[in-house]
Amino acid sequence: MKADAATPGTVYIVGAGPGDAGLITLRGVEALERAEVVVYDYLANPRLLEHCASGCEKIYVGKMAGKHSMRQEAINALLVQRALEGRTVVRLKGGDPFVFGRGGEEALELAAKRIPFVIVPGITAALAAAAYAGIPITHRRLAATAVLITGHEDPEKGESEVDWERLAVGAGTLAVYMGVKNLGLITGRILAAGRPGSTPAALIRWGTFNRQETLAGTLETLPALAEARGFGPPAILVVGEVVGLREQLRWFDTRPLFGRRIVVTRSRRQASELSRGLEALGAEATELPTLDIAPLADLSALDRAFAELPSFSWIVFTSVNGVEIFFDRLAERRLDARALAGARVAAMGPETAGSLLRRGVRADLVPERFTSDGVLAAFAARRSDYAGQRILFPGSEIARELLPEGLEGLGAQVLRLPIYSNRVPEYTAEEVDELLGQGAELVTFTSSSTVTHLAEILRSCGRERLLPEIRGACIGPVTADTARELGVPVALEAPNHTIAGLIRAIQEYFIEDTVGERQST
Ligand code: SAH
Repeated sequence: MKADAATPGTVYIVGAGPGDAGLITLRGVEALERAEVVVYDYLANPRLLEHCASGCEKIYVGKMAGKHSMRQEAINALLVQRALEGRTVVRLKGGDPFVFGRGGEEALELAAKRIPFVIVPGITAALAAAAYAGIPITHRRLAATAVLITGHEDPEKGESEVDWERLAVGAGTLAVYMGVKNLGLITGRILAAGRPGSTPAALIRWGTFNRQETLAGTLETLPALAEARGFGPPAILVVGEVVGLREQLRWFDTRPLFGRRIVVTRSRRQASELSRGLEALGAEATELPTLDIAPLADLSALDRAFAELPSFSWIVFTSVNGVEIFFDRLAERRLDARALAGARVAAMGPETAGSLLRRGVRADLVPERFTSDGVLAAFAARRSDYAGQRILFPGSEIARELLPEGLEGLGAQVLRLPIYSNRVPEYTAEEVDELLGQGAELVTFTSSSTVTHLAEILRSCGRERLLPEIRGACIGPVTADTARELGVPVALEAPNHTIAGLIRAIQEYFIEDTVGERQST
């Protein structure tokens, strides 16, 4: 609790947007960054919580599997209580907080308790889902009005607050929230009010997520189609002539990797570049980190090396992690890239070199082959005698000896400096089934250790038999060899050991796959 508990904290009622984590406002992100407490829902993308500071308390009040969500009164009380402790609270709600989200009720409670609040609007599901399905909800020729309707009420009840009779024919486009369960009744009402059965209608489920599904038909055909497909919530029903434009305006679900499920095994620290790259092409990237990388608790040896940096002729970085942890620590010691001024710098591969460049250092040596041998060959090619030269080798606790020993073989004096630990995380059999099952089409491997670690994970939870079912997407030949040795089938192999190259190879793999499917049908 804050010292000055008499002053309540502010509650930010923030619209999280419809799902795509990029569809939140800048104001919303600012609020999350500042939040001490975040209270969030089922429909808010949990990835948005990555904007929160590390000490932020995160409270989930949405639906639990098989259980009900927290009652509205309890949520109101929670917001009031945390604010009265003097904390800055974000109430993160799917879409827009004031569109069918009970945000109004929460704000009224805060107003009654004289707790300061801020409302941050969000992009509501109907607008976003329609846009991502290629449906403009108004159009100069086809729809001059659009209405947002709740379909949650039972339309059979006499006292419905939705005036279906008038709306059905009075508005151009109808966008119905929470309407899946009552779909047949709702379309029946709209038809009864006089809208033709041939009116285009669509259901959009999980709009703006890469698992978005769209079912298009007419007022007459849609309920049966939805039934046949087992189409469940959360979905938006859009009715009106504009729905017909989808055929020309589809864009989101036509991207090259749309609907493809790809597992990313990189460490948590590194996964995002690959995951985001795949997602930008439409894939559903599922992360199954096979490495937990953390800076060593005791970095005093690195600190001592900083003091001696001028005595090293080379610093060799073998991974992005090494670069990041080295430079983060350098900054913590109030130093910067100039500390490396006297030394030359080698990077094992282009990813590591890129990471160095972002830290203000251009690598003097990047080998043609991104392996220990490749680095050694590049060193040897520069000169044959390194006698008396000191080489700093910061890396993992379990770094392989091949490279430092090779450098010593060239006459250098190598200081091996472990700066991070490299552990295999533990998973239960259920977690593994969830991540690898359910139609995962490819599993990416970005280093040999991602393969060996995954094999170890599967072995230790009794799921070794899944190994031969995996389709490996390997970043380069060395990784692919490791996969084959461990009995993991290699579906594709990128030529150049870069993330961009891997993403390109995955795209090509699916293009061929699609062509193959077409030919076989
Ligand atoms: N405040 C939210 C709506 C909450 S009501 C907003 O402004 O979007 C919950 C309903 O919203 C769901 O039943 C569904 O009809 C709709 N919905 C929310 N997110 C959705 C999504 N990503 N795709 C389709 N419908 C969604």
